[in-house]
Amino acid sequence: MTDKKCVIITGGASGIGLAIARRLGREGYALALVGTREPEKVAGLLDDFAASCMRAAYYRSDVSDHEACGAAVKAAAEEFGGIYALINNAGITRDALLMRMPPEQFDAVISVNLRGAYSMCRHVLPYMVKARQGRIVNITSVVGTYGNAGQANYAASKAGLVGLTKSLAKEVGSRGITVNAVAPGYIVTEMTDAMPEEAKAALTGRISLGRLGLPEDVAECAAFLIGPGAAYITGQVIGVDGGMSI
Ligand code: NDP
Repeated sequence: MTDKKCVIITGGASGIGLAIARRLGREGYALALVGTREPEKVAGLLDDFAASCMRAAYYRSDVSDHEACGAAVKAAAEEFGGIYALINNAGITRDALLMRMPPEQFDAVISVNLRGAYSMCRHVLPYMVKARQGRIVNITSVVGTYGNAGQANYAASKAGLVGLTKSLAKEVGSRGITVNAVAPGYIVTEMTDAMPEEAKAALTGRISLGRLGLPEDVAECAAFLIGPGAAYITGQVIGVDGGMSI
């Protein structure tokens, strides 16, 4: 048991999720990271958190496996004495033009990005309802609103997250639980590393602030939504895209 509030972060061991974990760890939250990589690959990270006096644990779970999500949530709740917040950040891309996309490729992305968020919400909500407080933040994408050729599966999953966010916000608001989404633009992580330099330059030209985003830019927004200042904000989608979508 601890007096630190526990935040579950799916995909919290890399990229945007890790930036959110570091940011919230500095705020004093206990961190429950969920991902599919081997625990040995996260050991160094957990040591770093411990060295900075941050409490963190890793639960190896595939968010597309509903029962596995339940097991991770239960373990985290037992370890940290409840669940205060959930960040649904885990996400994958499997890009192809729809005309060439087999059903498995469509389903794979929906299963992780959208159904995974549903499963995590489904399992954390009993803890939040009992505590009559909670925060859920879903990481969607600008692509969910504007679409992107070659990413019909990914864009559909991210648009679905917006519907999930707004519907759930209506369902659980009376229980003191807020549900919001953050819609990053192009953020420099492993997911976007593969993009050719010319494509990055072309993209930067469309961004009002003239640069690609950093994981820390998204982490600031997530931390705000988890924090006390966002107590009266729910069902919202906040763009963190440097003005790309205006
Ligand atoms: P990363 O690839 O660095 O992170 C994705 C994370 O998701 C990994 O930590 C991975 O952990 C986890 N993950 C993937 N599949 C599963 C699974 N089945 N179960 C549990 N965890 C899983 O990418 P980003 O940090 O860039 O992306 C984070 C989120 O931000 C994603 O939802 C992405 O769609 C969104 N986003 C990113 C943008 C960008 O420009 N980078 C723009 C807009 C949105 P593990 O490997 O351990 O499974």
